[in-house]
Amino acid sequence: MNDQNGTNENEAYEGRGRQRRRVVIIVLIAAAVIILAAAACAAYFSGFFKPTPSETPVPDGDLTESAAETTRGAATEKKPDRVETVNDTDAVQTEAETERTDDTNPSVCSHNYGAAVVTEAASCQKTGTRVYTCTICGEKKTEEIPMTAHTEVTDPAKNATCTSNGLTAGSHCSVCGTVIKKQETVRATGHTAVTDRGKAATCTATGLTDGSHCSVCGQVLTAQTTLPKLEHTYSDRVVEREATCSSEGRWTSTCTMCGQTESGTIPTSDHSFVAGICTVCGTAQEATPHLTFELTDDSRGYVCMGLEVSYWAPKKDPETVVIPAYYNGKPVREIGQLAFHYDDGVKYFVIPEGIEVIESSAFANCKSLITITLPRSLKKISGTAFHGCGNLETIYFQTSGWYLNAPGYATPFDTSDPYAVAATFRNPVTMSYYVR
Ligand SMILES: [Zn+2]
Ligand SMILES: [Zn+2]
Ligand SMILES: [Zn+2]
Ligand SMILES: [Zn+2]
Ligand SMILES: [Zn+2]
Repeated sequence: MNDQNGTNENEAYEGRGRQRRRVVIIVLIAAAVIILAAAACAAYFSGFFKPTPSETPVPDGDLTESAAETTRGAATEKKPDRVETVNDTDAVQTEAETERTDDTNPSVCSHNYGAAVVTEAASCQKTGTRVYTCTICGEKKTEEIPMTAHTEVTDPAKNATCTSNGLTAGSHCSVCGTVIKKQETVRATGHTAVTDRGKAATCTATGLTDGSHCSVCGQVLTAQTTLPKLEHTYSDRVVEREATCSSEGRWTSTCTMCGQTESGTIPTSDHSFVAGICTVCGTAQEATPHLTFELTDDSRGYVCMGLEVSYWAPKKDPETVVIPAYYNGKPVREIGQLAFHYDDGVKYFVIPEGIEVIESSAFANCKSLITITLPRSLKKISGTAFHGCGNLETIYFQTSGWYLNAPGYATPFDTSDPYAVAATFRNPVTMSYYVR
């Protein structure tokens, strides 16, 4: 093309040639671009350039979200999207499987994830996890399951009492125990004291001290203690019935506060013995102790020999001496010589039936002796039996046949020596002659 003969023509020609080459190059480039584009399109639709999961996470993310929502069952309206996706995948799946058999490269799998398998359940305290497995290539995808909500349970309010604090209502999770609404303490109210009035004790009822209790809960704050009954205030005793030597008496007394009466017995009084006989009830006085006795000569009975020396010597004579009718199982028959000689404190001698003899000076110088009664059984009074009894006024004889040897009266006294008897009464004496 390089023409050395005509420079202009060559130049012109060369200019037209360059233009023509440029157009051709442009056309060629355009054609190449079109071919490439066409090839690229064909490659795209044939799936040659289908991205691997790792290369293109964006569609997976969409699928994950969609699947997750399906699992929760929250957004059912998004399901059709997934269905479309699945259908698309199905359409490609056959092709992909075919490819796999031919060419087992997983990087070209479009993934079809089945149902999730929960590997760790979520709770109200921690997230869980679930795993999806691609049904085509077995690729696994792990997903976090969000924490569940707490299971709220009401903690009921508790009223405060006098002694224990209360609580406001609150709540907590029954699963993990997390306090959701804290219960606040309500302070105890304290007792409300009310006075329990006591009462004074009387002689008929016990009393009580003041106390107190809580009007709200009833608890006793200060216990009432019992006051013992008072003693009755009795008036002076009044004798209802006098005691005698044979029966008890009775007294009564009245409480000046309540009117209650009490009564008691008055013990029997002593007999009023005169000459050995109670003037009230007629009881015979018991034999005087400390008398001494000797057997009679014939041993058929005893002779009373008077009081023991050891008894009468240091003591005053008893006012009355009672001589027993029997001693040691045998009758007392005589009062011995000088038996009560000088017992001048004795006022009364009781001489029982059975006594037959009063020996000489038996009662000599008994200066307190005023009267004496002699038994029917008496047969002999020896001389000087009553010698020196300066106050003796009366001798009572209880049987006939006795005569007083006194001025104007005839003797004898029946027995062997009536004079001796008469001689006894030399002082002024009023003698009685007793006739039954
Ligand atoms: Zn897969
Ligand atoms: Zn919880
Ligand atoms: Zn209380
Ligand atoms: Zn009373
Ligand atoms: Zn009596």
